[in-house]
Amino acid sequence: MFGCSRWWWNYALNKTIEEYKATGKGLSRTQLNALLPPLKKAEETEWLAECYSQVLQATTLNLTRAFKNFFEKRARFPKFKSKRSKQSIQFPQNVSRVGENLKIPKIGIVKAKIHRWFEGRIKTVTITLNPAGQYHASVLVDCECCDLPGTSDKISGVDLGLKHFAIVHDGSKVKKYAHPKILKKHSRNLAKKQKTLSRKKLGSNSRQKARKLVAKVHHRIFNARYDFCHKLSRKLVDENQTLVFENLNVKGMVRNHNLAKAISDSGWGMFTNFCSYKLEQRSGQYVEVDRFFPSSKLCSECFHLMPEMPLDVREWTCSHCGTHHDRDENAGKNLRAEGIRILTSGTEVPASGGECKTKLGPKTKFRQSSKKLETPASIKRGVVHF
Ligand SMILES: [Zn+2]
Repeated sequence: MFGCSRWWWNYALNKTIEEYKATGKGLSRTQLNALLPPLKKAEETEWLAECYSQVLQATTLNLTRAFKNFFEKRARFPKFKSKRSKQSIQFPQNVSRVGENLKIPKIGIVKAKIHRWFEGRIKTVTITLNPAGQYHASVLVDCECCDLPGTSDKISGVDLGLKHFAIVHDGSKVKKYAHPKILKKHSRNLAKKQKTLSRKKLGSNSRQKARKLVAKVHHRIFNARYDFCHKLSRKLVDENQTLVFENLNVKGMVRNHNLAKAISDSGWGMFTNFCSYKLEQRSGQYVEVDRFFPSSKLCSECFHLMPEMPLDVREWTCSHCGTHHDRDENAGKNLRAEGIRILTSGTEVPASGGECKTKLGPKTKFRQSSKKLETPASIKRGVVHF
C-alpha cells in the first residue's frame, strides 16, 4: 500500500504538472480520481487494485491540498516522493480498535502498542513507516473533551535562543527555560553509528542494517525534541492567553556555520507551530513580530535604540537612561510590548508615527490570519502595563 500510494502521488503530481504546462490549468481532485479505474484495469498498473481504494483517494486529497497550500503561499511546491524517505498512507475511515489491536481494511488485525487510550469515533488513521523500519499509526478521534477555554489572560513575550531555549517575559517576571541540547546528548552515539555505516560496503546487507541503526538514533533525537516542544508549549499555553514570538529567519541563521548545528538542534519551528495550534484550540492569540523588529537592540525602559548588539554581548547598559539589561530579558520584554501594541492597534502593519518603535515600521503578521483579531480581555480592562 505504501508503494501504491507513493506511485499514485508521483503519477498524479506529474500529470498535474503536464496538464498545467499544456493548458495553464491543473487537475482537480475529481479529475484525478477519475484516472484511477482505468489504471487499475491496465495491465502495467493492475497492482494498484490491490491497494485499498480509499487510501489512493486520500492521497489524491492530500495532493490537491498540497497544491492549494502552495498557491495560497503556505507551503512550497509539492515534491515527488522517494522510496527511501518516510512512507505514509491514510485511511479516511473504517479502521477500528479491537482490544489492544487495530483492525485495518484489507490488512486485518495488527498488533499495536497503544500509547494512550482514546474515546470517541475514529476518523482518519495515518500509518507511517520511518527509515528505521518502525511502523506508527496516528489515530484521529472525534471527541468533545479537548476544547477547553483558557483560564489565564496573561500576555507573554517569548524570546527563543541558544543559551536558553525560551525566555518568557510576562510583564513582571522572567522565566528562563534551559536548552535541552538533545543533539549533543546523542552526538557520540550518532557519530559511532555513522562511522560504522561509512565503513560498510555499498549495497551490502550489513550496510542496510547499519543504516537502520543510524536512522534509529535520528528517530530517538526527533522523539526527544518532539516531547520537549509539546511539554513546554503546553505549559506556556496553559499559563498565557497570548504569546508573542519573533519571526525567526532560521534558514538565514543556519548559514552561520558556528551556530548551524545548535540552531538545527533547537526545533524552534516545531515549537512555535505547537504553540500556535494549542493557542488556537483555547481561543488564545499567537502573535508574530517581524524579524526586523530590533528586540535586542532596543532599550525596554526608554526605547533608545543601540547602534549594534553583537551576539556575544549578554548584558549591556543603556547609554541613554543607564538601565542595565540582561540581553534576553530585555528582548522578551520588548517582544511583549510590541505584541500588545500590535493587538491594540489591531492592524497587521502598524500606523507610522507615535512612539519611536513604530517609526521603525516593522511588518508583522499573525499565523491565524483567517481569524478576526480580538483585543485580549486583560487589555480591554486596562490591567496590562507596558
Ligand atoms: Zn534606555
